[in-house]
Amino acid sequence: MEAKTLSLPRLNQLTPTLESTALKLMEEAGELAQVIGKFRGLSGEKVDQDDRAVVKAITRELLDVAQTAVTMMFVMEEQFGVDLDQALQEHWAKLERKGYLVR
Ligand SMILES: [Mg+2]
Repeated sequence: MEAKTLSLPRLNQLTPTLESTALKLMEEAGELAQVIGKFRGLSGEKVDQDDRAVVKAITRELLDVAQTAVTMMFVMEEQFGVDLDQALQEHWAKLERKGYLVR
């Protein structure tokens, strides 16, 4: 079984809230969808960027999504007392229970 471990910072120049991070997450997810749509020419536009540049743009937006998710996790811990380690264990257990993961 493979696992990817990311280390993303707690941003220290922002005062995020549940609402601001949730909205930002949707914004970043939209940006990710937008670059994928452009890459695949979903709007009917001709794709005039080279694949490497588009893949790089997709990766950048994907990391924005991950960073925002991590920022929201800090909010959940700090403002709502969530035990994220416990939640993560429950998440892994759910993936196994649903058959997405066999350890
Ligand atoms: Mg972005």
